[in-house]
Amino acid sequence: MKSLVLIEYNNKSKVKPMSIPYHLRFSKKAKYLQLRISSQGLFVVVPHKKPPSQKTIEDFIQLKKNWIEKNLNVIRITPKKTIELPENIHLPAFNQIWQVAYLKTISAKLKLITNPHNNQLTIIGDIAKQKQCLQLLLHWLKKIAQPFLANELQKLSDETTLFFNTVTIRNNTTRWGSCSSQKNINLCCKLLFLSPNLVRHVLLHELCHTRFMNHSKSFWQLLNRFDPDAFLHAKNLKNLRKTIPLWTETNFFYENASI
Ligand SMILES: [Zn+2]
Repeated sequence: MKSLVLIEYNNKSKVKPMSIPYHLRFSKKAKYLQLRISSQGLFVVVPHKKPPSQKTIEDFIQLKKNWIEKNLNVIRITPKKTIELPENIHLPAFNQIWQVAYLKTISAKLKLITNPHNNQLTIIGDIAKQKQCLQLLLHWLKKIAQPFLANELQKLSDETTLFFNTVTIRNNTTRWGSCSSQKNINLCCKLLFLSPNLVRHVLLHELCHTRFMNHSKSFWQLLNRFDPDAFLHAKNLKNLRKTIPLWTETNFFYENASI
């Protein structure tokens, strides 16, 4: 970790030195200098291909010192986020509620056992490993979302004669779905937390992108043909993001604030 001493003058013009320690992180993707703040402190993301000089980096920190101080304070006073392990998982898309039990055993390895007859999930092993428990649940969610969403998409594709190439289920952080110009559709496993009519709306939205790769008037006309409440459904979707259980967020261990 490096440390930069910033000199700040107060109104009496007395010198007040202030030290901001920072970590350097080289990134292949980054094109510009970036600042990131997490509970581990300040990170300066440096473009790997064209690393700037030490002086440029420190001038950048100096320039952004108000932002840095403000966000470091926010991180300091914000209690570290902890996500509770869910005791039940409600999946409106299926109209199912799954109970989750956690069984502590001496085995360090964690295992998830599914009992579909009574909608029961059991995680056994070192259940103190919260992150790994949540990863097992997310893996299960994606596994059950795959055949269901692929099947629903195929049915709607046949019904609408809007054809797609492949379908992939992911745990997207910001999108419910997407469609590439090759007609490859990507759907988010969190769709299982939505009602059947909203799942249908998202799938139809992506299928309409196989004809229009934009949100033009023609796109909405086509979507409205299959989903007459498309505008209302789109509006409802926006508000529902916040209701998705927190445990499905894969990045909850990091508090990031970037400029
Ligand atoms: Zn779209």
